[in-house]
Amino acid sequence: MAALRQEIPAAEIQRQKDICRRIRVSLGDGERFAMVDTYGCQQNESDSEVLRGYLGAMGYALTGDEEKADVIVVNTCAVREHAQMRVFGNVGALSHVKRVHPERIVVLCGCMAQSEAIREKVKRSYRMVDLCFGPHDLWRFPELMERTLQVHGLSGNRGRVFSAADAEAVAEGMPRARDGSVKAWLTIMNGCNNFCSYCIVPYVRGRERSRRSEEVVREAEALVAAGYRDITLLGQNVNSYGRGLEEECDFADLLRKINAIPGDFRIRFMTSHPKDATEKLFAAMAECEKCAPHLHLPVQSGSDRILKAMNRGYTREKYLHQVELARRYIPELVLTTDVIVGFPGETEADFLDTLSLTEEVGFDSMFTFIYSRRPGTKAAEWPDDTPRAVIQDRFDRLLESANAAAAALHAAQEGKTFRVLIDGRSKNGDYNLSSRTAGGRLVHLRGDESLIGQWAQARITGSNTYALFGEIAPIRSPDESMTGPNNG
Ligand code: SF4
Repeated sequence: MAALRQEIPAAEIQRQKDICRRIRVSLGDGERFAMVDTYGCQQNESDSEVLRGYLGAMGYALTGDEEKADVIVVNTCAVREHAQMRVFGNVGALSHVKRVHPERIVVLCGCMAQSEAIREKVKRSYRMVDLCFGPHDLWRFPELMERTLQVHGLSGNRGRVFSAADAEAVAEGMPRARDGSVKAWLTIMNGCNNFCSYCIVPYVRGRERSRRSEEVVREAEALVAAGYRDITLLGQNVNSYGRGLEEECDFADLLRKINAIPGDFRIRFMTSHPKDATEKLFAAMAECEKCAPHLHLPVQSGSDRILKAMNRGYTREKYLHQVELARRYIPELVLTTDVIVGFPGETEADFLDTLSLTEEVGFDSMFTFIYSRRPGTKAAEWPDDTPRAVIQDRFDRLLESANAAAAALHAAQEGKTFRVLIDGRSKNGDYNLSSRTAGGRLVHLRGDESLIGQWAQARITGSNTYALFGEIAPIRSPDESMTGPNNG
């Protein structure tokens, strides 16, 4: 399928920024607050940074306090029914805010809002929502906000704005208010062409389109210059980066370009589709000293029959081959995955194939999910008559096995010393700092909070299923905290 790219002209983004200024002037002096509540994946977290950037340009200070927010933005996820129900529950609860403060604005955006059925439901049953728009409209949020402020008025709920553009845009230069100052998301592409039979993403985020590599590199350079030390490249399937671009640049090439930026920082990425991960990528990961030795490679199932029904485009054998190849290039690789249990038609034999694959690979951590039927996808049309109790039992067995594997892998790290990046606070017992190894393993430490944002050597003294515990090791040479191998 040909990739679809529509670049939004720089003048259009400038117009949106001008609208922000106009809103700021028209609202006048005085403090105003906005909050953005984010559901779902890292891509949504990244989109919320743009929403916050625009809101800041409109003159809103950011708050986490719903009671004082003049604008409440709910950035939604459509991937699982449970998250969708939570959104509806939480948005419904905002009716009390609107009753007391009818002048406040409630915005529902993101993947749920791209669905016509959801927009109709919001129109009918969620009258507290003033503005509703899908992910393709993100770049023109200011224009939609201005229209909402005009029809809404500042005194009450007089009108509402609904929008869901089809145009799958690539927009550069939007303002962005990032979370934190150590780790940063960097979106390299949007959308997906894969149409896995259970997944709603291609329907709500559209076909894949990559940002030009020079734009990605420019943003990465700015992040490094601003002091960020852990940059995660984001895309639904980063391994297909570059398709549809005029330049010749695939994901492995992009990794090398970012690795060439001077500075002491780590590059991570997600998500990799096993069918598109190439030897060239593993070679680039091995050669790029800034690239984290971590691969999140969602397997979803270990049964060829189910993988085919999922339209995943690989077999169990091919997946195992990819793992073997990746480990050959990067022996210290930390491998994580996603698994779905209870896909329509999954038998006990299919499940046992999944269990045996995960045990054979030995994942550092596994994100396990019970299949969630998404209307509009292929799999939603198929009979799904496995009793819930059977699916739950399979899920519990998988989780038990995953936890045992993770605990054993973590225990094997005890006594080792890793170069870690201290990235925030920890509230785990008397451990007050959280850090990550290059492979992405969480290490709880004790130390002065002024160390947040710094590299350190951590000696691992304990572990459990979810994390490692350690002590900051003395630095033996002045340069040691600033350099070191990208160990796991
Ligand atoms: S690769 Fe498959 S699971 Fe991932 S976003 Fe695309 S369709 Fe969904």
